[in-house]
Amino acid sequence: MPRILDNALEAVGHTPLIRLDKIAAQEGLKCNLLGKVEYTSAGGSVKDRIAKRMVEEAEKDGVLIPGKSVVIEPTSGNTGIGLAMACAVKGYSVIITLPNKMSLEKEAALRALGAEVVRTPTEAAWDSPESHIGVAQKLQKKIPNGVILDQYKNVNNPLAHELTTGPEIIEAVVSTPSTSEHPSSGKVDVLVAGAGTGGTITGISRAIKKKHNSQCIVVGVDPKGSILALPEGLNEECKGETYVVEGIGYDFIPQVLSREAGDVDTWLKTGDEESFEAVRKLMRLEGLLVGGSSGSALSGALRWLKSDEGKKVAQTKGANVVVLLADGIRNYMSKPWFLKMALEAEPSPLAKQISNILQKS
Ligand code: PMP
Repeated sequence: MPRILDNALEAVGHTPLIRLDKIAAQEGLKCNLLGKVEYTSAGGSVKDRIAKRMVEEAEKDGVLIPGKSVVIEPTSGNTGIGLAMACAVKGYSVIITLPNKMSLEKEAALRALGAEVVRTPTEAAWDSPESHIGVAQKLQKKIPNGVILDQYKNVNNPLAHELTTGPEIIEAVVSTPSTSEHPSSGKVDVLVAGAGTGGTITGISRAIKKKHNSQCIVVGVDPKGSILALPEGLNEECKGETYVVEGIGYDFIPQVLSREAGDVDTWLKTGDEESFEAVRKLMRLEGLLVGGSSGSALSGALRWLKSDEGKKVAQTKGANVVVLLADGIRNYMSKPWFLKMALEAEPSPLAKQISNILQKS
């Protein structure tokens, strides 16, 4: 962006699409494996886009009034960080209700941006008064001028992705020429993304299928223990399991995730272990400091590319497979899964060499 920006909200989105060539080579893929890296957005995640759009549209509709409205939102954290950033820039008070499972880093970022944070029990059912949704509703009833923008129902959630994330991916693919080193079909052939509210996958899918490539295969990733995947049998197999990965999966179907409308073609269930292993690969092989759900998306993508359905794409030179990497490791630096990965790895040959040298001297 070659000009001075007016504020942080102008630095939301505009994220890079980056080749994951080393992972592709390790997995024996002939297709292009491409990561849409959302942690470079100003607030650090894909959800900045919807926060910005929901606030700006609510202002246009007169729902949010500067100096008066109090923004209240239940979130797994990233929408909250985007909203707190928008509210800091625009001068609104903001309250975020956040399930206990979500990281301390998210709470710290929220508080640093000036938000009030209310923690809620992770195990509370979505429609119980104790859940992050129930507590937000209770606060909204009692706090004068409290407004819930409601990412689970707000059309501006999928629309933000239909109008920004999707077009950015299409633009990057279309404007990169096919060369002998990097052959390209010139289109987005496969999109893989995790689903929480489902706004990201729904919106990007609409942008691609309506305006670019109606044949694009959209693969949804849902953690084991969540109920978003179809067919229902996939969810039944791992019913009641819990998962550490944050930001994807739910115990209800959010309205913005249109499961029946053909926006998502196929679903995969992922587990924590494969997700964190994929995060390690993204860090070690590609230098990308992504968060846990990015690992779920990559792991789902690699599994789909090995399936009967995906094998042909995997071996097609120039086919473009885009994996949505939703946030960065900043959100998870103190989580045991990350500390274990970063600090308790087997000593490398170089580490052994260093300790030999230092012991001798
Ligand atoms: N990954 C992370 C880390 C997230 O915070 C979210 C948002 N809940 C998602 C993935 C899924 O995005 P969406 O809500 O648009 O489905």
